[in-house]
Amino acid sequence: MSVQVRQMVKSFGTFRAIDDLSVTFQSGKISVLLGASGCGKTTTLRCIAGLENPNGGEIRIEDEPVFSSARGIDLPPEKRRLGMVFQSYAVWPHLTVKGNVGMPLRAQKVPKEQIERRVQETLAVVGLSEQADKSAMKLSGGQQQRVSIARCLVGNPRLILMDEPLSNLDARLRVEMRNEIRQLQQRIGATILFVTHDQEEAMSLADEIFLFNKGKVEQQGSPEDLYFRPAVRYVAEFLGKANLFPVTLRGEAGQTAIYAAGSDHLITKGDIVRPRGDEALCMIRPESWQIGLAEGDRVGLPATVLEAVFVGDRRELHVDTPIGRQIVVTPGHQRFSAGARISLTIASQQIHLLPDRL
Ligand code: ATP
Repeated sequence: MSVQVRQMVKSFGTFRAIDDLSVTFQSGKISVLLGASGCGKTTTLRCIAGLENPNGGEIRIEDEPVFSSARGIDLPPEKRRLGMVFQSYAVWPHLTVKGNVGMPLRAQKVPKEQIERRVQETLAVVGLSEQADKSAMKLSGGQQQRVSIARCLVGNPRLILMDEPLSNLDARLRVEMRNEIRQLQQRIGATILFVTHDQEEAMSLADEIFLFNKGKVEQQGSPEDLYFRPAVRYVAEFLGKANLFPVTLRGEAGQTAIYAAGSDHLITKGDIVRPRGDEALCMIRPESWQIGLAEGDRVGLPATVLEAVFVGDRRELHVDTPIGRQIVVTPGHQRFSAGARISLTIASQQIHLLPDRL
């Protein structure tokens, strides 16, 4: 079920939380709404659910308008046929697992035998069949979250909205649950809109990421698109770490030489996708720098290690270079100490140029 949002505005008092938002979330995909705290992710989800009333614009679910300010349409949440999973599991502790999952169907007065069958099927989908008669109180955090997912799935929603559903789980369980959500989505082919501010969660789950900033979408695309080909500086800096510095471009298309701005330091040359003009902002991800031969190497950029932070699987080097400070990531087993002199090189394919200025 695709979701189309057109020119949506939502204000709280004089503050515009959603500012003329137009996006389409694709059917049968996981769309992740990512962004810093307060950028409007939850408000967007709540407007789609019908829990919040936009001031203007239109929302369609698979071409059916569920909200339209111009046409005076505003379907109540229960008529939008969607399921929601929140950060708080909201399971009823005094009920069994089965009792919790069957609740939405009982509220709709579905016949008893149908409820029983549907609950059993749904529990099998989330791997909780064996816990069906257990008291919800006795479940672990991950199992409780699965109960709330099952409760959302039991009514066969055409669309599932998830708002930070994994935030209350510990780090290991979070990873496990996000893999389960991914597998579940592939099995049932549902459309999921998933809100998070955790970039790793976003990149590992999403078919498409929508990076929000101040009530608008700054960029949308596959996780790789956003990470390797950010359209603007904000995106480059929000996702992962980025070395950014101004450069001057010389030569023609196909053989562009990239020099650090205002210097003769050649960064690299090759067939590079260049923005308009001869000036650009160069982005290099920390893991893309290659550590070359040590001092005296005339090919690379000379660098001095200021700090080497060991993070287990990798080591993060903060280095001083003639073009400013750079972050370089190397495998954890490679040892460097402060003061070490190295040189850095970069393949032209690993460079991304942005039209922004510093
Ligand atoms: P977070 O990750 O912190 O939940 P978010 O991106 O989901 O952030 P929203 O909850 O959508 O952000 O809030 C967007 C902005 O609107 C915030 O500045 C918030 O303070 C404001 N806001 C949200 N709900 C209300 C409300 N009911 N009354 C007043 N302001 C609100």
